[in-house]
Amino acid sequence: MKILIAADMEGVTGVVHWDHVSPSHGEYPRFRHLMTGDVNAAIRGAFEAGADEVVVTDGHSSGRNILIEELDPRARLNAGRPTPLSMVQGVDAGVSGVIFVGYHARVGTPHAILDHTWSSSCVAGLWLNGQPVGEIGLNAAVCGHFDVPVIMVSGDQSACAEAAELLGSIETAVVKHAAGRFGAECLPPEVTHAAIYSEAVQAVSCLRAGEAPPPFRLQTPITVVVEFVHSEMADRAMILPGTSRPEGKRVEFTADDAPTAYRLFRVAASLARD
Ligand SMILES: [Zn+2]
Repeated sequence: MKILIAADMEGVTGVVHWDHVSPSHGEYPRFRHLMTGDVNAAIRGAFEAGADEVVVTDGHSSGRNILIEELDPRARLNAGRPTPLSMVQGVDAGVSGVIFVGYHARVGTPHAILDHTWSSSCVAGLWLNGQPVGEIGLNAAVCGHFDVPVIMVSGDQSACAEAAELLGSIETAVVKHAAGRFGAECLPPEVTHAAIYSEAVQAVSCLRAGEAPPPFRLQTPITVVVEFVHSEMADRAMILPGTSRPEGKRVEFTADDAPTAYRLFRVAASLARD
């Protein structure tokens, strides 16, 4: 049984500000260490519950955040970008279940640390087949295409609630209780690592017992709507062939499957940010 741990940074233990997750800021090295600690707790849990292999994908920004010198030596690390499947790189290689560590709520969520979807400066909303999603839903849909369920998430209470609402009975480890976008009551690593470990044990045990939630599979073809922060961003995204413009700041397109929707969304966001 092979488990993929897809890690982001905004939902990591103690993170409450962009300064904590930005390489240019002096606080960033502390939070790389904390991110690696959250990931290690999930790795320990997965192996404890009987996983044969664990691969970690570093999904935040450039994909160069996790400290490999501190990583549990039983795991392997997908680092760097771009890669074909980005935040869930490796999910197409015989993976049985995915654990999201350090995830965050979608853009516009109240009481959610650093709520955003892909890019806080350019994406104001994302819908797949009319359903609002953030990075949890987008990445889970790519996993679902390969018939792989997301079995656990860690992050603040809003990220965990979003995942449970969208994906069903997955295990959740709340590492902080957000009062706003930049403020939370945070649990210390000793406490969060114990919670992440035990939820990972539970999640992988359920998966082995055939009791994991079903993969998040979208009906195809998939209609994608992206709302941008400014209308000129939509102007630029319209360079992508096959797009239409249902509203001034919204661009719509159709994709044959979830990995294609993911790629087209990433292209649209890159164009918009130019
Ligand atoms: Zn991130």
